[in-house]
Amino acid sequence: MKLYAPSTIRQIKEEYGFRLSKSLGQNFLTDKNIIDKIIEESFINENDLVIEIGPGIGVLTSEAAAQAGKIIAVEIDKNLIPILQNTLGEYDNVEILNKDILKTDLNEVIEQNSEINGQPVKAVRIIGNLPYYITTPIIMKILEDGVKADSITIMMQKEVADRIKAEAGKKAYGALSVAVQYYCTVHHVANVPKEVFMPQPKVDSTVIRLDIRKEKPVDLKDEKIFFQCVKAGFGQRRKTMLNSLTGVCGLSKEQVGRVMESIGIDSGRRAETMSIVEFAKLANSVYDLIRN
Ligand code: SAM
Repeated sequence: MKLYAPSTIRQIKEEYGFRLSKSLGQNFLTDKNIIDKIIEESFINENDLVIEIGPGIGVLTSEAAAQAGKIIAVEIDKNLIPILQNTLGEYDNVEILNKDILKTDLNEVIEQNSEINGQPVKAVRIIGNLPYYITTPIIMKILEDGVKADSITIMMQKEVADRIKAEAGKKAYGALSVAVQYYCTVHHVANVPKEVFMPQPKVDSTVIRLDIRKEKPVDLKDEKIFFQCVKAGFGQRRKTMLNSLTGVCGLSKEQVGRVMESIGIDSGRRAETMSIVEFAKLANSVYDLIRN
């Protein structure tokens, strides 16, 4: 059965009395080339554990199942569970969890599946065509929880992918770019037009792969202070770093000025011009000042 075919989706809807939920971000993929590209760029092998976010009716799941050791597919919509049990029935390496991905302890899932057929899991690959209403919370939860995965290959609205990929000095560069690039290297996989979804969303999409770094790109004395500086810096983008950092960790304007001067960064600069390395320098100096 061609799960991705619009006629199949229509047939399933009729057979199960299933109604697509807009509020759950249900835009199902109908293009085999895009599905193949996502699977190909996820680099899934037979000893890998795959965690899929939001399988829908299983278009990505069935393709991944043919390559992975095991797949855990996390789907929030209980109405999709009997459908998935049917569409994925032939794969004995797929487990469907009827759960909210934001309330699922993925490290626990990974621990419980540390072996596949008696062999240790080689890599943990997270994949998904994400529900767009929670794209950023899902990514940040995986990264901030320190989920022990190797890569995350996901489809999202183009605008969010642009923000994740952006470098310092670019319009799309912001707190999300810094955070994701701190934890991962970011790879563009594919541009996806809105016409290949059912129903069609209003915006185009992008697939990216995030390879989770084994070593961070900067040495931080305190991650919390780093993210406080980043958040404050981008809180009001038009403000200078001097103004937006005042008050962070209880620092006065004078103290911020001195810190910036000591690391050779002009306090009149705006956050959007600050590289991750510069934010790290700044955060480490703030740490030195408040700890001494
Ligand atoms: N993978 C399918 C495809 O590509 O056709 C469906 C993708 S659709 C964009 C997003 C899927 O995520 C839907 O099946 C939706 O029910 C599910 N979903 C939405 N919110 C979720 C959540 N919090 N946890 C788990 N799944 C969720």
